[in-house]
Amino acid sequence: MRVCILGAGVVGLATAYQLARDGHAVTVLDAEPGPGMVTSFANGAQLSYSYVAPFAAPGVAWKLPGWLADPDGPMRLRPDFTWHQIRWLWRFWRACTATQSNATTAALLRLAALSRELTHDVTARERLDYAFSASGKLVVYPDDAGLAGARAQVELQARMGSRQEVLDRAECLAREPALASIASRIAGGVWTESEDAGDCQLFCAELVRVLRASNFDVSFRFGTRVTQLLTAGGRVVGAATPHGVQEADAFVLALGMGARALARPLGLDVPIYPLKGYSLTVPITGVAPAVSVTDISQKVVYARLGSRLRIAGMADLVGADMRFDNARLDTLLRQARGTFPDASDWRELRPWTGLRPATPTSLPMLGPAPGWPNLHCNLGQGALGFTLAMGSAAVVADMIAGRAPRIEARAFSA
Ligand SMILES: Cc1cc2nc3c(=O)[nH]c(=O)nc-3n(C[C@H](O)[C@H](O)[C@H](O)COP(=O)(O)OP(=O)(O)OC[C@H]3O[C@@H](n4cnc5c(N)ncnc54)[C@H](O)[C@@H]3O)c2cc1C
Repeated sequence: MRVCILGAGVVGLATAYQLARDGHAVTVLDAEPGPGMVTSFANGAQLSYSYVAPFAAPGVAWKLPGWLADPDGPMRLRPDFTWHQIRWLWRFWRACTATQSNATTAALLRLAALSRELTHDVTARERLDYAFSASGKLVVYPDDAGLAGARAQVELQARMGSRQEVLDRAECLAREPALASIASRIAGGVWTESEDAGDCQLFCAELVRVLRASNFDVSFRFGTRVTQLLTAGGRVVGAATPHGVQEADAFVLALGMGARALARPLGLDVPIYPLKGYSLTVPITGVAPAVSVTDISQKVVYARLGSRLRIAGMADLVGADMRFDNARLDTLLRQARGTFPDASDWRELRPWTGLRPATPTSLPMLGPAPGWPNLHCNLGQGALGFTLAMGSAAVVADMIAGRAPRIEARAFSA
């Protein structure tokens, strides 16, 4: 089959790999000059297969006002009074129940486990070089209440197959001695051995290298913006670009935040809202963490990528605004320097901002779009796009091939 993939971020490229291995003829279109240049560029670098609990959880609605009132808080909301934002927030609020949150966690754990297996497989099989490390992940909590909540989540996820350990302060410091400077604000933590880290943009570039070099039937058209989806007879028949129309038998919508605009004329209102985040990437010049660390009190993640440290955080609901907010960068830098003061000389910072394509429930949308049987969604991975990319791609590839998805995937129905 001829399949056209719209979007060469990590989700689109993982899909290209799975479809190429199934023997399809694949064309990948992207507006940018190369792979992984948008949200997949400098994310938190966490392959975080056990930390998939949705953002919409019981109690979050009550914590939100406190986070929003704190200028250094992990979230910001700028009401734009659009129907899209209001409806997203309403659906988010409605998803903040234990029943929905537990069901979402179970579904995402299944998808993440598949993703882990396939990410390990592609990394070894194709000898991908993207600063991958089987680092393990330590999430540290500032107080006993937070730790008690984490323990309950660990127990819930243990029943769903996760293996995690709750640690006291001394055990956290033994796991990651670089945390010594914030020892006094650590009550304990959760250690997950099975978590990995890697550079998402390099992963994208490596997939392109493999797909170009092997016997796969894959072509790339970078620098090609898709301006319209062409339809006839109830099917999508082409993707219009300034350089002509790309035809195919099936299309995969993997445009991240770009999907809404293209899908709208087809009567599809894609329920993803941008959660804006920031990252810094600093050269390691001193004592930096060896394992991936999440500081829950600030909601900041740290990952070692070879000789660099990636620091990421913030989730701002401020629309699709790609401008840097210097106050947010300043906060992230201050938090990072406070947590790992000796990690770097903090002169070279490489700031970056990106928009997580988030659904209200945190469940991605995988499979045919309503009313358009040959337009397959692979969208809405939100804060976990790198983590879930290979699993999401496999589910979509199964559906395109007419096979039963290899995991129970009804929760991800588009
Ligand atoms: C601060 C931050 C930290 C994060 N940390 C992590 C993390 O630690 N772990 C994790 O798993 N995930 C993380 N994420 C989330 C992850 O980065 C995203 O979920 C993922 O990159 C989304 O990939 P994508 O392929 O769907 O979108 P993108 O990477 O945005 O790719 C979409 C592509 O579509 C193209 N496109 C859009 N519109 C058009 C058009 N009209 N025509 C042609 N091309 C078009 C774009 O150029 C782009 O290349 C983080 C995100 C942020 C912002």
